[in-house]
Amino acid sequence: MKISIIGSGYVGLTTGACFADIGHEVICIDNDSNKIKSLLAGNIPIYEPGLEELVQKNVKKGTLHFTESIEEGVEKSLVIFIAVPTPPLEDGSVDMTYIEKVARQIAAVLKDYRVIVDKSTVPVKTGEKVYQTIKRYNSHNSEFDVVSNPEFLREGVAIHDLLYPDRVVIGATSERAIKIMKEVYAPFKAPILITDLNSAELIKHASNSFLALKISYINALSRICEAAGANVQMVAEGMGLDHRIGKHFLKAGIGWGGSCFPKDVAAFIKISQELGYDFKLLKEVSQINNDQKEIFLRKIRNVLWVLKDKRIGLLGLAFKNNTDDVRCSVAMDLARVFLKEGAIVQAYDPKAMRKAEEVLPSIHYCSSALDVAEEADCIVIATEWEEFINLDWKSMKSKMISPIIFDGRNLLDKKKMIEMGYHYVGVGN
Ligand code: NAD
Repeated sequence: MKISIIGSGYVGLTTGACFADIGHEVICIDNDSNKIKSLLAGNIPIYEPGLEELVQKNVKKGTLHFTESIEEGVEKSLVIFIAVPTPPLEDGSVDMTYIEKVARQIAAVLKDYRVIVDKSTVPVKTGEKVYQTIKRYNSHNSEFDVVSNPEFLREGVAIHDLLYPDRVVIGATSERAIKIMKEVYAPFKAPILITDLNSAELIKHASNSFLALKISYINALSRICEAAGANVQMVAEGMGLDHRIGKHFLKAGIGWGGSCFPKDVAAFIKISQELGYDFKLLKEVSQINNDQKEIFLRKIRNVLWVLKDKRIGLLGLAFKNNTDDVRCSVAMDLARVFLKEGAIVQAYDPKAMRKAEEVLPSIHYCSSALDVAEEADCIVIATEWEEFINLDWKSMKSKMISPIIFDGRNLLDKKKMIEMGYHYVGVGN
């Protein structure tokens, strides 16, 4: 199948590489000429485990191509995926200018039947608007269908999630488009759920909001555990063994961040409001998340008293492990507060330092995790990188001014750290 993907970011590029790998002919398109130049030169602009190898392999095989031209993509492909950003506006609603622009760009060059597939996360009824926009701006009066195919990949394990998805959701009413979409996904052997357009769009916002809700639930429980002298990790384990609940997304910490959850929860609250429903439950989910960060900061201030002139060793900058993505990262939010209050922040992240430096140049970026401990008044763990677990914590301690650890991800064994002589502060334990 000949496929084009408009938008070659975290979703578009990984999806393109996976489609090419399972046998489709793929063109990845982006209007960022630097990105396309870099991809054509064999450089991958993002870090995603396995992506570089997958891109190189399929470029060599001749099934993965890059261009800035939407016209080329639309002309050469039967299926056109849209994977452009849908960032939040001030009031929480979604900035639809990227999607709207792409719809007009497709309309301007559409001559023959094409399936236009929205993969970006969008408010319900966007597909209808994309259809009307293309119809309005297409001078050839071409035939086309619009499909919703929301993406559920997790950064850090995106290739696995794309190749072995729990489900593929296809929102469409046209039999012709459904048949083509089934062919696109046939090699994946994943369960395919066919729905109408609006339901498919809702599935994405409903899923992300539910996952955020699960984390906020365990974070709220972490406060009860602290007050009661219980251990939230044990409570989560006990809950998670029940199959109806499941063990995933029950890790207490400093809250959810990243480029999806905050914007998608805010958007779903706004969408619901516009549809006449006040989604108070989700407002509370969001509030718990904001509070969780504040409560963690309060713990740090309680111990360090004044942050001004304190040297804080920050482990982790990415919003989660195995990615270089720092968009809406809680780790970055913490760094901003530390810097604002006059602390010296010395940070290390295995993959996200280049992207973090573009946003927060005043952090002192260290070349190793060990360097973060140098004369530090405390260490803050903000991202759950596995390599932080196995650090030489004895050497770390010997470099610090005072051996205090604020473990925002409950990554370390509290008992062991205390035995080693650390003052250990976790979340809900
Ligand atoms: P991204 O910012 O990494 O990539 C988007 C790309 O689109 C950028 O490279 C940008 O230059 C390009 N672009 C913008 N306008 C364009 C245009 N007119 N023509 C061509 N290219 C254009 O964003 P992302 O993280 O890949 O997210 C894309 C969408 O997928 C969003 O709606 C997001 O909510 C959704 N999503 C993201 C994830 C994730 O984990 N990142 C997971 C599921 C869904």
